Amino acid sequence: RENQVFNFFAGPATMPTSLLQQVSDEMLSYQHSLGYSVVEMSHRSKDFEAIMEHSMSTLRELLEIPNTYEILYMQGGATLQFSAVPLNLCRFDKNETCDYFTTGLWSKKAGEEAKRCFSANEDGPQQVKVHHLNQQSLTQNDSATKVHIDPNTQFVYYCDNETVNGIELKQPPIDMIHPSTKRIPFVCDMSSNLLTRRINITDFDLIYACAQKNFGIAGLTVVIVKKTLLGKAPKWIPSLLDYKVIADGHSLQNTPTTFSIYVADLMFDWIKNQGGVDAMDELCKAKSNKLYDFIDNSNYYSNNIPKHIRSRLNVVFRIKQGDEKLETLFVKLAKERGLIGLDGHRSVGGLRASMYNALSMTAS
Ligand code: PMP
Repeated sequence: RENQVFNFFAGPATMPTSLLQQVSDEMLSYQHSLGYSVVEMSHRSKDFEAIMEHSMSTLRELLEIPNTYEILYMQGGATLQFSAVPLNLCRFDKNETCDYFTTGLWSKKAGEEAKRCFSANEDGPQQVKVHHLNQQSLTQNDSATKVHIDPNTQFVYYCDNETVNGIELKQPPIDMIHPSTKRIPFVCDMSSNLLTRRINITDFDLIYACAQKNFGIAGLTVVIVKKTLLGKAPKWIPSLLDYKVIADGHSLQNTPTTFSIYVADLMFDWIKNQGGVDAMDELCKAKSNKLYDFIDNSNYYSNNIPKHIRSRLNVVFRIKQGDEKLETLFVKLAKERGLIGLDGHRSVGGLRASMYNALSMTAS
């Protein structure tokens, strides 16, 4: 690329050059034969249907998603799922609860949005229970820190990779739940790590992720939901937020984000050609380990997150425990050398290198 830089933005993020080249080559005439662009294509046409079907079947193959789960393509980003999840999984009865495990900014925001959904019922019992899992409770595994879940809870929610805080759990926090609790639907936000490693889909009841980090561009949000959870939403929720409506309409209930779906389709093929999610995992580990090793062996940079919950995707770090002037200078000098997007999220400051699927090993 002209003036190629290494892009460490947290999302939208870097994309494979070969894929962008293909998008550019096909922009005027899809597959060099149709005589019109994918952005001009009806979402009801056979050509677009083929893109939808191919993308969903490749995604199913990459993540080994069983047929007992539906794949939905939705809009509104991951943030709209903060509302869609409680709206679909709760009946809004008086005694009902849902439990949020918070490990950082995004799970906190999701819990706040769930509270909004329940706010018409403010006088009722506390319906959204937020359990903050601090680094200590995630590290110690003693019974005192285990969370008791109410029998009326409809789901337990967590975020597998906290993009801002650089924490990745890598598996549902089942150990954090008191063993006396019955099996409850597990909901997971994998916006910044879906398709970066193998997961066991049946450990979850619902997973969602926005596309603009590891598998495409902004606009598309993928929801993978157990079919038995569909059709539980109260009748009054907006139809485009109702997972059953989207499933019944094959994610074509209204005009979908056609261009984002086309790009995701190419990205799923790209991941498959690289060797699938296992290859992505290897690459993510190699890139992040290289940076963590460098930070750990330096007296200048620091990262205080316990090793087993460090994110493979978002490496957060500070200079001299948080010298903001030096950090601003670091970002400036890095940019001058072609390394962009290294500043931390505005809510926490510091520095962050986001290294998603499409970022090459050379960048780290
Ligand atoms: N969850 C996580 C883990 C994220 O990283 C983000 C975006 N950075 C979001 C949710 C919100 O995504 P969106 O901007 O697509 O609503």
